[in-house]
Amino acid sequence: MSMEELLSRRPNPAGVVRNLAATPLERLAVVTCMDARIDTFGVLGLRIGDAHVIRNAGGVVTDDVIRSLAISQRKLATRYVILIAHTGCGMLSFTDDEFVAELAHETGQPPTWRPGTFPDPAQHVRHGMQQLRTSPFLRADTEVRGFVFDLTTGAVDEVHTPAATAATPAPRDAPAND
Ligand SMILES: [Zn+2]
Repeated sequence: MSMEELLSRRPNPAGVVRNLAATPLERLAVVTCMDARIDTFGVLGLRIGDAHVIRNAGGVVTDDVIRSLAISQRKLATRYVILIAHTGCGMLSFTDDEFVAELAHETGQPPTWRPGTFPDPAQHVRHGMQQLRTSPFLRADTEVRGFVFDLTTGAVDEVHTPAATAATPAPRDAPAND
């Protein structure tokens, strides 16, 4: 399908208007992969207006994800963060070093960022949760939960870490769980 054909599919503007406040109703921000097969709202039973959704390749907790979460929390009153990875993720199919080498070869320069690939979705979620819990830019009372979404069964399995049940956020010098 061409770009013009894609654009011609836009619905009547009146049909997509929602009269909602900018502050997410459920005080939730979701960080997940950009994978086209994930219906983030459907997976979590959310409605438009309930949550911020921050997506990138892999659902990696990058500086830009922290940027969005800091704004989400401090300017738009969210308190909960759900991190979701998934089975069959494209980020499982190559390595950082491979991709950086490919880009450097084709463009003559390496990227300034890391691709953020990972071999195991649950381990990836644990690492991301640790990053979120130790970020100085997120509120100390942030509740973080992590999950792996199974694309074939629809199951959403929680990823537990020792810090997940702790009453207080992990100290910044806590060892990583991966
Ligand atoms: Zn993915």
